[in-house]
Amino acid sequence: MDTAKIRNFSIIAHIDHGKSTLADRILELTGLLTDRDKKEQYLDRMELEQERGITIKAQAVRIPYTAPDGQEYTLNLIDTPGHVDFSYEVSRSLAACEGALLVVDATQGVEAQTLANVYLALDNDLEVIPVLNKADLPSAEPERVAEEIEEVIGLDASGAVTVSAKTGLNVDQVLQQIVEQLPPPKGSADAPFKALIFDSWYDSYQGVVVLFRIIDGSLKKGDRIRIFSTKRDFEVTKLGVFSPGPKDVKELGPGEVGFLCASMKELGDAPVGDTITKPENPTDTPYPGFQKVKPMVFAGLYPVEPAEYETLKAALEKLQLNDAAFTFEPETSQALGFGFRCGFLGLLHIEIIQERLEREFEARLITTAPSVVYQVRNTDGEELLIDNPSKLPDPQEIEVVREPYVRLEVHVPNDFVGAVLALCEEKRGIQKNINYAGINRVIITYEIPFAEIMYDFFDKLKSSTKGYASLDYEVIDYREADMIKLDILINGDPVDAFSIIVHRENAPRMGRSLALKLKRSIPRQMFEVVIQAAIGRKIVAKERNAPFRKDVTAKCYGGDITRKRKLLEKQKEGKKRMRRMGNVEIPQEAFLAVLKAG
Ligand code: GDP
Ligand code: MG
Repeated sequence: MDTAKIRNFSIIAHIDHGKSTLADRILELTGLLTDRDKKEQYLDRMELEQERGITIKAQAVRIPYTAPDGQEYTLNLIDTPGHVDFSYEVSRSLAACEGALLVVDATQGVEAQTLANVYLALDNDLEVIPVLNKADLPSAEPERVAEEIEEVIGLDASGAVTVSAKTGLNVDQVLQQIVEQLPPPKGSADAPFKALIFDSWYDSYQGVVVLFRIIDGSLKKGDRIRIFSTKRDFEVTKLGVFSPGPKDVKELGPGEVGFLCASMKELGDAPVGDTITKPENPTDTPYPGFQKVKPMVFAGLYPVEPAEYETLKAALEKLQLNDAAFTFEPETSQALGFGFRCGFLGLLHIEIIQERLEREFEARLITTAPSVVYQVRNTDGEELLIDNPSKLPDPQEIEVVREPYVRLEVHVPNDFVGAVLALCEEKRGIQKNINYAGINRVIITYEIPFAEIMYDFFDKLKSSTKGYASLDYEVIDYREADMIKLDILINGDPVDAFSIIVHRENAPRMGRSLALKLKRSIPRQMFEVVIQAAIGRKIVAKERNAPFRKDVTAKCYGGDITRKRKLLEKQKEGKKRMRRMGNVEIPQEAFLAVLKAG
């Protein structure tokens, strides 16, 4: 195919600004989407994604487009995941493009995620076309938002089209801008074969499906390929494009986007960001920017019933097949028995995995408090990586603890600057910049411990800014910090699953707050329950639950029998999620209480 007739682009936007809706409208306008497909947003296929309204899996669609002058073009729309937890995947999808549509909701304006994505696009040398969306809404202010794009991002927005992705208004103009303003791919048909892997997933029939963008050379079914980082060779058994469903093709050349299958058994066979070449004439310069994704946040997952351990293990194995960033290994907890230490990209990633386990695999789980990874040097000079609070050595054996820091960027209207600064200071943040960028919008930059934004930061930020703040973060480095372990004792016995690592200054406050939260979430039992928070041997907080004979039906006054039965069933249901520690029954919510302490 003539590269001059190819345009590879992606759509970037803050969540809910209309990325998926615009993608659908483009597919519809070019005749790719039939009425039958319309009822669900094509690019958000997973059930879970639809409910959450975010796109987790990147997709690529080939769109044949006839320009008004009669010229035929091939547009490849590459969809990107929409959340900070997935920014490496976003950056690799962008790397496969020459340009991006920047969709900004004209009733809102530029948000943190907008800017974060624009930076990723500019890092990848993309040409960015601003699009002002939701023009059909009376509250749309396209002029103000265009001005804001110029001031905050520094992009020329004078030619920005005002569209309604919902009604289709002016979307045809966006297609024209794509062919006029985005450069065609460069690339040589004769150079050694080189392609970028920008997504891969596991399919139970085909094995690993690889989405790739060819830089140089061409590829046919039956060709032998080599994965650059692993030097492993495979034979291409299937070659195709999505348009919008999978279609086989004979050959793909420079600048083209497609998928292949090659009897690959696991995602590690085709890591995102890696380069594909050919063994007979391999390239010696891989596509730059390859990183192995690695989990940043760890939590324990335990079956509610010990007998369900094997079922849980099977479910985790299945999930891992399709999620290279998710890791797990067996661990045992004194309190919870046999379970798994699992690694995630961030908190949203934990929620997604947890929900999938419960929904798709009907697993009943107890999730322990998530923890970042600490670097610890002990008094023997050994360097340890600690991802589980209960594994932190005793204070006298610790020489140095280092914790991960992130660069945090919060976008907020002027009125809330004070509230955001107060919150960041409370969370041990180091202020880096306050930028009054544009009309009533401030960008606040902090360097802040990752652990501090993990628990209740998002909730607090939302409530202290009436929901107006948006944020983005990336891990930058590790710094020395005075971290200690806070333990929880139930009736005198430490419960390892409740231990957390906290900064020494915050420990007493966290201890009191946690003890109180646990008191509230552990139901009263037939004997007294004493909850203590301790640092080493020192008790910093103590709460007690008086004994109580639990009878949930008492308040029915013996009246309505069906209601009584319902209550009993509810109580039974609740029991399933209880774990016994010694004599004490602890519900799943108690483990989550750790998250909300602070
Ligand atoms: P995404 O998160 O960027 O993919 O956003 P979506 O495409 O899922 O859109 C978020 C919400 O905004 C949905 O409820 C859409 O129906 C709505 N929406 C998107 N575009 C428009 C538009 O042009 N006008 C109006 N009124 N609503 C829109
Ligand atoms: Mg979407």
